[in-house]
Amino acid sequence: MKLLITTTLITLVFLNGCQQIQQDDTAKHADMVSQKRGSVLIEKGIVELSDEQDHDKNVAGIDPETELYVVDNPDSIEVYVNKQRRLPEGYEPDDLVEPDVEHLSQQGVNRRLLRQEAAEALELLFEQADEQGIDLVAVSGYRSYERQKTIYQSNVANKGQEEADRFSAQPGTSEHQTGLAMDVSAASVSFLLDQAFDQTDEGSWLVEHAHQFGFVIRYPEGKTDITGYEFEPWHLRYLGEELATHLYEEDLTLEEYFGYHY
Ligand SMILES: [Zn+2]
Repeated sequence: MKLLITTTLITLVFLNGCQQIQQDDTAKHADMVSQKRGSVLIEKGIVELSDEQDHDKNVAGIDPETELYVVDNPDSIEVYVNKQRRLPEGYEPDDLVEPDVEHLSQQGVNRRLLRQEAAEALELLFEQADEQGIDLVAVSGYRSYERQKTIYQSNVANKGQEEADRFSAQPGTSEHQTGLAMDVSAASVSFLLDQAFDQTDEGSWLVEHAHQFGFVIRYPEGKTDITGYEFEPWHLRYLGEELATHLYEEDLTLEEYFGYHY
């Protein structure tokens, strides 16, 4: 993958000429100021891809420093981020609301929030679960770029980068920044985000029913090589009922669905 990115970069630099290279070098040391271009945030220092690449992969460009692709559709319900694809640095959803469900966190914190459509879907999911005797608790939803940066840097400091990368997302690459992901847990695992959650009634219920409300278990068991993440039975990602049901029925991750793997 690294080779592919490097090749792409060399091609782009060749196509864009020396002026582009100089601009990039300057931007590396400058503050990453963002500017609006149409509905898409383009950061300074991001090398833009050709039209063909844009259309294929919903990518606005590539950050030469981190070699990560920057997606051009952060507001889409189907936005696809992972360890190679990140959100624009300044991205923040403009329709964050607090779903009316049981939360583990105190009132007023960001992690209670989700985008409107995902929040409504989560309320329906919790309602249905409750009717069937399944007591879920929302643990962690929206997370800003800055918050993710702090978390990631702390994990790298404590565990080293290689180990941290197995469970912690680089800033900009977390689904929690999209406002479409919520970590959930239950009293049966002391409200922890733990793989043991999969063995509980609540975890099993989610595996069977999450898609009916438009959610998927984004990082399933046995797909670490594809998603780049360890099994996270607690991490729900909203994709809308149609796509979530398709992924559930075909046993696909987003990486497999879009056709490029970690
Ligand atoms: Zn999560």
